[in-house]
Amino acid sequence: MRKLSERKLVIASHNKGKIRELRDLLDPLGYELLTAGDLDLEEPEETGLTFEENARIKALAATTASGLPALSDDSGLSVDALGGAPGIYSARWAGAEKDFNLAMRRVHDELQAESSGNRKSKFVSVICLAWPDGHVEYFRGEVVGEIIWPPRGDQGFGYDPVFQPDGYESTFGQMGAEEKHGWKPGQEQALSHRARAFKLFYEQCLQG
Ligand code: IMP
Repeated sequence: MRKLSERKLVIASHNKGKIRELRDLLDPLGYELLTAGDLDLEEPEETGLTFEENARIKALAATTASGLPALSDDSGLSVDALGGAPGIYSARWAGAEKDFNLAMRRVHDELQAESSGNRKSKFVSVICLAWPDGHVEYFRGEVVGEIIWPPRGDQGFGYDPVFQPDGYESTFGQMGAEEKHGWKPGQEQALSHRARAFKLFYEQCLQG
């Protein structure tokens, strides 16, 4: 596992929700952060068939274009009774208008049509760190929960209002930033998929 020695990083994303969460996690550690948008980087086409492949495409595109180490996140909601859908296509289910009310409704409608009553799902995040020489490292975080309907809460982004993690009475959409994705070095537990992936990234790539 290669350690990150540089103090300046590109966040290889144009997604405001993700950027905010990754900033919340990285800022306290003292990294200088730029985003793909700050550098006018184009969004590469996500042609991969796994979270890892898509995370790699995004991180490599940003590190190659910027000459800086780049951190990407490829993530999504995977619903058991829908065979893991929307999965890597989670962003695409919201259409060109990025309408997540539409995407959440589609998850609900497909679950109703499927009729097993199984509402189990998980959020997955794969964080990829890539260096300009082409080296990459991956960190995967998952959180299990269930799809609830109607949506609850207006915090967070994407599918947060329909996802209730196991052991909680609130959806991600009803949680503050700290509760959903907060994590600090030394903290035993992280809740969200992204915070769990970040914890691994910290422990294996930054710490020590
Ligand atoms: P991508 O990784 O850019 O392909 O997009 C991932 C999509 O998954 C996002 O646009 C969201 O719709 C969804 N997603 C990923 N992480 C979260 C999260 O923490 N909350 C809600 N939705 C998420």
